[in-house]
Amino acid sequence: MKKFNIALDGPSGVGKSSAADGLAARYGLTHIDTGAMYRAIALGMHEKGIEPKESRELTEALNGLEVKLEGDQIFLNGNNVSSQIRTPLISNLASVYSAIPSVRRKLVALQQEIASEKGYILDGRDICDVVLPDAEVKIYLDASAQARAMRRYLQDKNKGLDVDYEDVLSQIQQRDEQDRTRAVSPLKISADAEVIDSSELNLEQTIEALAAHVEKTLQKGAL
Ligand code: C5P
Repeated sequence: MKKFNIALDGPSGVGKSSAADGLAARYGLTHIDTGAMYRAIALGMHEKGIEPKESRELTEALNGLEVKLEGDQIFLNGNNVSSQIRTPLISNLASVYSAIPSVRRKLVALQQEIASEKGYILDGRDICDVVLPDAEVKIYLDASAQARAMRRYLQDKNKGLDVDYEDVLSQIQQRDEQDRTRAVSPLKISADAEVIDSSELNLEQTIEALAAHVEKTLQKGAL
């Protein structure tokens, strides 16, 4: 089998990362969580107190931020920030800073460079159309906002956190709105992506559904 790339897009909280890990293990691919990169930049900008808009300060700050992925750990200027980027504040700020064109240019270039040798699965919002338009496999993983909110609510509750389902739902809806309506690379379904709805599927079933599409592409001789 030739080396190939998978582009996986979808909204917040749909489980792209876990599904991508499953596919990566099955096909011997390296998983790149592009959302983690946007989160790391948002954390760096927030720590420096940089306003989320194009400016000389933002350009300078961006030049001084180095993002690196090693396995499932993410480093910002050499510091492991993997847990710091997973707070609700950084989730929201990532959505805000990722709407800035110069932030996107930097990360898209980095993602394209990483995936250029093939053998990667990238998950994000703009992978099919912008980052890897030539990817051999393109998938849009979807689920209703309610299903995504319920999963996140149950995860947090199991961690012993004090959460409210309606709050989680409204945060998800707010991020959907920000990601879908921004001017640069809004979240949308790529014309040549296979849409898989996971509202009624658990993780294992989701991975099976994604793998079935990869197999179909393999059988067509496209890989
Ligand atoms: O996937 P995750 O929720 O970690 O992504 C955080 C935020 O980063 C998203 O809400 C989205 O605004 C942004 N993002 C993006 N493009 C990507 C990946 C993430 O704009 N390829």
